[in-house]
Amino acid sequence: MDKLKIFQKGWNFSQDGPGNRLVYHLQGCNLHCPWCTNPEGMLPEGTLLVRKDKLLPSVCPHGAIYNGKIDRRICAQCSSRECVTVNLNQGIRLSYSMYSCVQLLHEVISSKHLFHNGGGVTLSGGEPSLQYDAVRHFLGLLKANEINTVVETNGSHSKLSALFPLIDMLIIDLKHYDVGKGLSVVGVNNNVVLGNISRAAEEHGNLLIRITLIPGFNSTGDDIVHFLSLLKLLPREHLAIEFLHYHEYGRVKWEECGMEYKMNITGGVKEDITEYESLFRQAGMNVIRT
Ligand code: SF4
Repeated sequence: MDKLKIFQKGWNFSQDGPGNRLVYHLQGCNLHCPWCTNPEGMLPEGTLLVRKDKLLPSVCPHGAIYNGKIDRRICAQCSSRECVTVNLNQGIRLSYSMYSCVQLLHEVISSKHLFHNGGGVTLSGGEPSLQYDAVRHFLGLLKANEINTVVETNGSHSKLSALFPLIDMLIIDLKHYDVGKGLSVVGVNNNVVLGNISRAAEEHGNLLIRITLIPGFNSTGDDIVHFLSLLKLLPREHLAIEFLHYHEYGRVKWEECGMEYKMNITGGVKEDITEYESLFRQAGMNVIRT
């Protein structure tokens, strides 16, 4: 409960909440989006990222590295992981590190002078709610120290609303309007997500719903009409919507993780986000770009 698995941390201005923010990406996700830009953050137990051009057989005492490749079937049985614990090298790294909440709090407090323009700390993923107890503990420490908090989530945790009082801005990534398609393509229980969105729109004072437009999944004009039909029913006082374009920044990392990148989108991305934004604005929705 006192420790968080973090696979990436760094600074971001305005895209992960207001102002200049220290962003922690938490290891583990319950979904399996084929377009994920952070595949190294998917598995709760972490992933070995491999750079083939730097791979040395000598770092593995179990014979898993040979002919310039790594045999991940052997790695799956290996609990000692000498390649990342003893024989540190450039060819392999484990995706995450463990940090105690107090250790992170020290880092945050020493960075406080950099939280300009309303900045603070953002917890992102992976999916932060997978480390629910530690996340709640850490958010409590941040609030006790008057740090602005943002959580970016897929919205699928059944107890998400219990975190609302600890979150200054809640960002929910809505994958699809359709329950069946959400479940079959990314494995999300949309009933829970939509329930959390509805509750957040009513109870949370600052909710941003993000929709990443994925060709072949949720990005046609008809899809947008369906999204709008759903979202326009929500209370709007504290609600904003943002559309994001699909991109392939994660493609190289899929290979490093030993996983196949199955997205095969050719011909560029054609959606006119401006048109979609106008449609939502005409319906009285607050649409933003960060
Ligand atoms: S995880 Fe274990 S088996 Fe795999 S390369 Fe590292 S030391 Fe070898």
